[in-house]
Amino acid sequence: MLAELKGLNEECGVFGIWGHQDAANITYYGLHSLQHRGQEGCGMVLTDGKNLTGVKGEGLVTEIFTSEKMQGLSGHAAIGHVRYATAGGGGYENVQPFLFNSQSGGLALAHNGNLVNAAQLKDQLEAQGSIFQTTSDTEVLAHLIKRGGFADLKTRVKNALGMLKGAYAFLIMTETEMMVALDPHGLRPLSLGKIGDGVVVASETCALDIVGAQFIRDIEPGELVIINEEGIHSERFAHATQRSMCSMEYVYFSRPDSNVDGINVHTARKNLGKQLALESVIHADVVTGVPDSGVSVAIGYAEASGIPYEMGLIKNRYVGRTFIQPSQSLREQGVKMKLSPVRGVVEGKRVVMVDDSIVRGTTSKRIVAMLKEAGAKEVHVCISSPPIKNPCFYGIDTSTQDELIASKLSVEELRELIGADSLTFLSVEGMVKGIGRPYADGGQCLACFTGQYPTEIYPATEPVSENLTVEEVKLGAN
Ligand code: SF4
Repeated sequence: MLAELKGLNEECGVFGIWGHQDAANITYYGLHSLQHRGQEGCGMVLTDGKNLTGVKGEGLVTEIFTSEKMQGLSGHAAIGHVRYATAGGGGYENVQPFLFNSQSGGLALAHNGNLVNAAQLKDQLEAQGSIFQTTSDTEVLAHLIKRGGFADLKTRVKNALGMLKGAYAFLIMTETEMMVALDPHGLRPLSLGKIGDGVVVASETCALDIVGAQFIRDIEPGELVIINEEGIHSERFAHATQRSMCSMEYVYFSRPDSNVDGINVHTARKNLGKQLALESVIHADVVTGVPDSGVSVAIGYAEASGIPYEMGLIKNRYVGRTFIQPSQSLREQGVKMKLSPVRGVVEGKRVVMVDDSIVRGTTSKRIVAMLKEAGAKEVHVCISSPPIKNPCFYGIDTSTQDELIASKLSVEELRELIGADSLTFLSVEGMVKGIGRPYADGGQCLACFTGQYPTEIYPATEPVSENLTVEEVKLGAN
């Protein structure tokens, strides 16, 4: 489904490169391929070995990194970020990477995910004299690193990471070093690749493919990778806990050409479609998918059910952020900007409409109405995930629980609300089976469906500790 319609948004994507003379341009292309993970803002910071310089702004990659700005960027290494603004709100100051300067040198930070104890850490740090420049939870890490005093950077970073709870894929860069860290649950994807003698790291493998990098491996939960002129070195900053990759990366967020933790996203979606076909008994003439993620699911559903797949819905790819939105009266007259039904495909047919999730229900309702207006005789809605009943605290904007329609209505009430002839959600077991992760327990986060969160969830006011003293995690090198 279209992120901008659904109200379900990924917050970020990160990209980094070390050891390449064309680091700025490679980062540009890498971020461009991660644009689906955040369209509100983007930025990159480069190092030439002596100085950190950066460009960032609110807008798409193609809008912020103009050829004029790109000409002014040089360096052999860079970290970049695309952002969807939720945690901490929007605004230029919250666009990453963050760049901090001090007498001991510069520090740049880019983060994908969300820290569940950020508010508590921030309260403590402010009480001890820190002044925050942004409202983003990410800045907390910079302060924690800085307060490590004169210890070497690696020790300070490891100590700081040990205090964080939640989901994080961090890229940290100084003039002479890059560090890459993934939270101990591995909630967000982060992959390592190689381009010539250079090292690349990205939220999704599609970014490695786009820049011509070769995939090496995924970053492990609780791993800290250090890249500098001596090479690449891996250590642990925390014991790996039960792996909890976000299920929605497969269902909805990641690009179909990415492999998330070794599983191709398109293939996982097709398998979700096959599971859905097994779990629903529908007599229909055609199966259609809501672009983009619903298409792979619909292909799988068609394969398993024997009902032919057809392109019954078309996405208008040229609707940008600045497109003039139709007024309410024009909308009522039927002006459709982002999605159109294909009348020749659906007219007079019993249609299975496959989508990835239902958040507020308004979009599904609109699409069902659209298909019926185009002449569909029946519309059967099949969703390739279970009902989303709980909010996400790990960097996905699933709104508040109050806005999650499945937390308030039964499946039958929801069917009635969206005007469908039938409504089927995939079961939790069916989703885990369809994604097919090679872990006995699934190794994935299911919290928005089950309410079982893989980490502690901190109430807004509860302090983490009195003194913020955390012993260094001594686990040795990998
Ligand atoms: S709660 Fe849902 S959206 Fe959030 S990380 Fe877990 S599976 Fe992903």
